Amino acid sequence: MSARAPVEVGADVCVIGGGPAGSTAAALLATAGRSVALFEKEIFPRFHIGESLLPYNMDLLRRLGILDRVAERFVEKWGAHLVSSDGAITRDIVFAEGFVPGHPKAYQVLRSSFDELLLRNAADRGARVYEGHAVIEATHSHRDGCAVTARGRDGGTVRCRARFLLDASGRDAFVASRRGLRDMMPRLRKAAIFAHYEGVPRTPGSAGGNIVLVLLRDGWFWFIPLPGGTTSVGLVGEGATLRRSGLPPESLLEEALRRCPAARDRTRVARRVSTVWTASDYSYGCRRIAGDGYLLLGDAAAFIDPLFSTGVWLAMSSAEIAADMLDRALGRDGSRGDLTPAVFAAYEKKVRRHVRIYSRIVSRFYQPGFLDVFLRPGERFRIREAVISLLAGMADPTPPVRLRLWCFYLVIRMQRLLKFNPPVPLLGVLEPAPGSPIPA
Ligand SMILES: Cc1cc2nc3c(=O)[nH]c(=O)nc-3n(C[C@H](O)[C@H](O)[C@H](O)COP(=O)(O)OP(=O)(O)OC[C@H]3O[C@@H](n4cnc5c(N)ncnc54)[C@H](O)[C@@H]3O)c2cc1C
Repeated sequence: MSARAPVEVGADVCVIGGGPAGSTAAALLATAGRSVALFEKEIFPRFHIGESLLPYNMDLLRRLGILDRVAERFVEKWGAHLVSSDGAITRDIVFAEGFVPGHPKAYQVLRSSFDELLLRNAADRGARVYEGHAVIEATHSHRDGCAVTARGRDGGTVRCRARFLLDASGRDAFVASRRGLRDMMPRLRKAAIFAHYEGVPRTPGSAGGNIVLVLLRDGWFWFIPLPGGTTSVGLVGEGATLRRSGLPPESLLEEALRRCPAARDRTRVARRVSTVWTASDYSYGCRRIAGDGYLLLGDAAAFIDPLFSTGVWLAMSSAEIAADMLDRALGRDGSRGDLTPAVFAAYEKKVRRHVRIYSRIVSRFYQPGFLDVFLRPGERFRIREAVISLLAGMADPTPPVRLRLWCFYLVIRMQRLLKFNPPVPLLGVLEPAPGSPIPA
């Protein structure tokens, strides 16, 4: 029997990946009247981690026309609750207290249905979406455009020719991994183990929707309240330490929860209702994110440790910047436009700046002194408000906020030298090897 002939399609823009970055870019370009072909290897809804959003993302959800539906389906998040491992020291971050007028809240989302909403929205706006189609080959150049081959689950092949390629393939990083463009961030070789639970108690009132971070000497837990009473629970630690334990992820997660008083209190009557998932060694950047005939979006361009829930916002904002820039570059009314790499230098610069500002605060978090200041914020010079603004998603801080962030890092450096705050006592739960008695 002869193999089926490939289906040939053409478009202005071809997008690899239908996560938040790919769907956002496809929806915006299609709305602008561009023809878009998007290839997604999975069939939605599918599980994905990354459930806590940031307030700055809300304007983009409004622009995409789905903010109302997000508000109907998901849990309101007004901030974050941080707690030391023994429960003795806590700090509440309330977004409305930042310099963020109009950005007081976000949502905790079930990614399977959030991502499906975004993808269907892109299709409703005119993008041609090929679900269950994994891209297996892509060439790109600003002169000749791109040629993409996707293999469907039904065994068929689709070949797409387009003027430009957007790679939004997430941590698979289709283009960057094939071109050897990825650099791991050596100080952030973390890993995570996570699952969904029922029966995790919530604080009454609006604070019940906040993300809870339980801080450990050797990592941290997240507790994210999801719709329907489930809670996403995750443990993040040094990748090498988690691997060294030799325990299967299920046992490692349960054992770590049992060893940490603040986490144990929250999971005493909880029941795991999902499998246990893992992700490892996940922080990296790419040497070139705007190249010849392509742009890298979201996680396909860079990924920062999930500590401050920045991933979806950075993915969707990079897609918005890319889509607006690309729409201009494609030209209109008979003009061929200009797709030379130089046109996209501003994209590279801006996305790098966003990644840098969040990598900086995340890497400081893992260094001595950070928590001693962060968990006991002073009221001077409105530094506290500046840090909250950054954590709400202000990726382009105003000069006064930038200055205050600079002061914040200076105070942390001084804390390291002068120890003006007593160190926050934290328990380690990953060493000595799990299975031995709970540390006293
Ligand atoms: C442990 C952990 C916890 C996290 N927690 C948070 C959080 O609380 N808040 C937050 O904002 N972010 C969080 N993140 C980050 C968040 O998950 C990502 O930043 C976000 O999903 C990035 O969106 P994206 O569209 O770039 O990539 P993805 O959401 O990964 O989407 C990429 C899509 O591309 C598809 N794809 C890949 N390869 C191909 C191919 N060859 N052909 C076709 N399709 C392909 C994939 O199937 C996928 O659907 C977390 C990440 C981790 C690892």
